[in-house]
Amino acid sequence: MPEPGEICGPVRMCVICRRRFAKAELSRHVLTPEGTLIIDETQKSPGRGFYLCPDPACGRRFEKYRPGTRQRGRRARAAAGRSKGAIWQK
Ligand SMILES: [Zn+2]
Repeated sequence: MPEPGEICGPVRMCVICRRRFAKAELSRHVLTPEGTLIIDETQKSPGRGFYLCPDPACGRRFEKYRPGTRQRGRRARAAAGRSKGAIWQK
């Protein structure tokens, strides 16, 4: 049962402001193997979609938005730790 004020039809969340919108209002972006986000013109490309609302403020923040950046940072630190260990093994 939809609650009062609920949007009818498919709803997606803007990845920037995390507000919910009707899917038709959002633009869908997909992640390329290179780790950049490109707009999904067809709205049907495989893979996880990143939805952006029409708010210009969100558009500006989305240009710098990179999903999974924190995880990559953890791996980089782990690699640095391993190279330090290699020095000690000499
Ligand atoms: Zn937004």
